[in-house]
Amino acid sequence: MASSALKQCINPSCGLCYDIDNDIYRCSCGSLLDIKYNKKPDRSLVDNFYKRRNHGGNIYNESGVWRFRDLINFADIDTENFDECARVLVSLDGAEGRLSRPYKMSKVSDYADMKHDAFLLQPEGYNPSGSFKDNGMSTAVTHAKMLGVKTIICASTGNTSASAAMYAANENMKCEVYIPKGEIAPGKLGQAFQFGSQVIQVEGNFDDALATSLKNAKETGGYTVNSVNPFRLEGQKAIVYRIMEHLDWNPPDWIVYPGGALGNTSSCGKCLIELYEWGWIRKVPRIAVINAEGANTFYELYNGLFEGKKLSWNGGRPDLEIVERYYSLQDKKGIRPKTHATAIQIGKPANLVKALRALDFTQGVVTQVSDQEMSDGMSVVGLNGFDCEMASGAVPAGVRKLRKEGIIKKDDVVVGILTGRQKDPGLAVQYHMNPANMFARPARNN
Ligand SMILES: *Cc1c(COP(=O)(O)O)cnc(C)c1O
Ligand SMILES: [Zn+2]
Repeated sequence: MASSALKQCINPSCGLCYDIDNDIYRCSCGSLLDIKYNKKPDRSLVDNFYKRRNHGGNIYNESGVWRFRDLINFADIDTENFDECARVLVSLDGAEGRLSRPYKMSKVSDYADMKHDAFLLQPEGYNPSGSFKDNGMSTAVTHAKMLGVKTIICASTGNTSASAAMYAANENMKCEVYIPKGEIAPGKLGQAFQFGSQVIQVEGNFDDALATSLKNAKETGGYTVNSVNPFRLEGQKAIVYRIMEHLDWNPPDWIVYPGGALGNTSSCGKCLIELYEWGWIRKVPRIAVINAEGANTFYELYNGLFEGKKLSWNGGRPDLEIVERYYSLQDKKGIRPKTHATAIQIGKPANLVKALRALDFTQGVVTQVSDQEMSDGMSVVGLNGFDCEMASGAVPAGVRKLRKEGIIKKDDVVVGILTGRQKDPGLAVQYHMNPANMFARPARNN
């Protein structure tokens, strides 16, 4: 049966379309692909989404992703019937996105100089595998299941592999994960093993692991579930839907993400473009992306700190040669991404061009924070009784910085995404044992 969804090249001067019954993720012109729907969803669906929260044991209504299935409907599911959903949709027992929605955290607001009511944080670490990746993995693995795929493949800084391995285990698929040797948090590596995936260690960093995994996927016919896969980004739109629902579909002024491969940034941008085009929202929130200082490709290119020219979407014709020159200079100088926030230790963000489109549409900004600042951000989240990992700490730290610079205003409504939970608890112990740290409370000897 032909699907009502297509893949379309994001380059407007190409715009080539492809069926979705294959695992092509790049157009013949080299650009990435989007999922395009031919139907415009009616805004009255927001009442359905709300009603489904009273799920009565139907995991596809309980799921914080599939509850919004009408807006990510590449599988052409148009039913409340459990069995019909279960034939196609992949869910970890309704757990993805179930607990993560915006929360107030007063101490984080104080730290960032924001009003208590106006700064909300959404802990995506409260997903079944412990990171936001589950939102997109449930949809990517659904597409894999539609194709009858036996093996899924990914490269990972740790959370993608944990998520992929978890869904593969639950769906009886094989999973191969390529990781940069020695560069991923112990809790994440442990999950990849425990969920029964084949771990493949690559000498080098994440960028090297991704290149190797994409090459091997091509040779072995494995299905790639990294964020270059457009079905990943479809599921991650649910992060934004939950924000919107929590705010009664009144858009916030800002949505803030840490920036790694820029999948989230891209997904958020696509989500907002769609909501705007459907007439569901009139105001468009601005996206703020927070890079680690030690892995700040996007920060440098977007702000014109390389060759003095700001890289932009430019109506779909971004200056990709500048990006190539940036990468080859980094390679020549031997500069490798370096931060203790390993989840965002990425030098070549695979979704760079989609992220440019997202920032163009939303008048977005990109800033950077140090490892020290991310550790402070992570720790103050903890003092509110929530936990997150160091990469997520970039969000409170970045909002604090943008507040200081006056870019975010004191009465702006800001929603920050805490992308993952703590899987390297040694970092928290280290932080608190050092009295020089802003929020440290060192252990006392009896
Ligand atoms: C994957 C990941 C990121 C980076 O997200 P992108 O979408 O690749 O930019 C940030 N934080 C955590 C915890 C992650 O797992
Ligand atoms: Zn194309």
